Amino acid sequence: MSLTLLQSLFVNLSVLVTLSFVMSLTYRSWPPPRHWHLKTARLTLTVLTSLALVALAPADASGLRISLWLVPIAVMILRYGLGNGLLAGLPAALLPLLETGPGAAAVTVSLINLLLVGGLSHLFRWTLDMSDPHGSLQRHAWIAALLFLPVNMGLVLLPGGPDALERTYVSGWVFNMVGFWAVASMITGRVALLQSTDAYREQAHQDALSGLPNRRQFELDLPFTVPGDALLLIDVDHFKRVNDLYGHPVGDEVLKRMGTLLSDALRGRDRAYRYGGEEFAVILRRVQPGRIEEVAHRLRELIASTDFGEPPGQVTVSIGGSPFGLWSRTRTLWDADEALYRAKQGGRNAVTISAPDLFPHEPEGTDAPALNPTLS
Ligand code: GH3
Ligand code: MG
Ligand code: MG
Repeated sequence: MSLTLLQSLFVNLSVLVTLSFVMSLTYRSWPPPRHWHLKTARLTLTVLTSLALVALAPADASGLRISLWLVPIAVMILRYGLGNGLLAGLPAALLPLLETGPGAAAVTVSLINLLLVGGLSHLFRWTLDMSDPHGSLQRHAWIAALLFLPVNMGLVLLPGGPDALERTYVSGWVFNMVGFWAVASMITGRVALLQSTDAYREQAHQDALSGLPNRRQFELDLPFTVPGDALLLIDVDHFKRVNDLYGHPVGDEVLKRMGTLLSDALRGRDRAYRYGGEEFAVILRRVQPGRIEEVAHRLRELIASTDFGEPPGQVTVSIGGSPFGLWSRTRTLWDADEALYRAKQGGRNAVTISAPDLFPHEPEGTDAPALNPTLS
């Protein structure tokens, strides 16, 4: 094992890790989007990395280059299959043709390496499960040892090859393993991070008890409402009594059931939220003004006719509603809240829809300002 070989393998390892870091940056969101340009970018980066690794490995006296060029190819095959991987590996395998020296023979060795390591990588594709949050490649790090067992075996075909293989095999194998492990850790680590960010984002916008989107999601959705949409605020009647009489766990079950009832009862484009403790909100999209009350009554009746089990049996809700319009969304929120208050005042288990006064009358006795005071 010569010092020059070790040095060149270290240089290769550094280049491999650097370029693989760039490759890992192409994993930007979870679930992975199926964009063809992402696949093309990864294929191109793989080709460039393997070419760089071959080009940066100095040839020894016999013209032989030992490099880590098969690592990115093995990763490519695990992710995108044998065909894509072999395609990505061809430029690096054919690179020796540009050189004087052992050109054609070196190409043969490279192609044999490519087929052996590529074939093995394809056989071990089951070890790559992108949806595994712990990074399956990291857990299957042992496959690195197997994948690179045949590396450089093609050397036996060259004159003086068996000697060269004896000199380089162990260090080549070890560096390939370490390189593969580093690249796999980097990519799977990044994918695992994206997965957990995605899971936390989802949790942050979902109410754990009812399973409905929460107030935070409501605040995010609110700016997307347009005139023609409507808001319903739903408040459970005398819910404190349910808790006081039967205990909090029963109250929780009611809220949970309420979440299922509301989400099942709505059309796909409408959305129910847990707005507060025992308050729910519903955004109705593109609903005719006359139908807001109809929908609210349907929801009220559905809940009033549902058997919530013994106890508490029947549970009722009061609903306040208001359309979104050219006025501010805050006003719709206030109007719906005020309508809910009136429904409660009216005896509960009731619906009130506020009809916004688009042209409020000036209080009697106030003078309308002149249209253009300078002309009067
Ligand atoms: P009203 O008909 O006027 O709305 O009467 P109410 O009793 O429903 O109203 P109030 O606001 O006085 O009580 C709401 C109760 O909801 C108080 C609170 O303990 C209960 N609550 C809020 N969040 C939860 C929850 O997550 N689980 C349970 N079990 N109870 C909750
Ligand atoms: Mg309340
Ligand atoms: Mg209540």
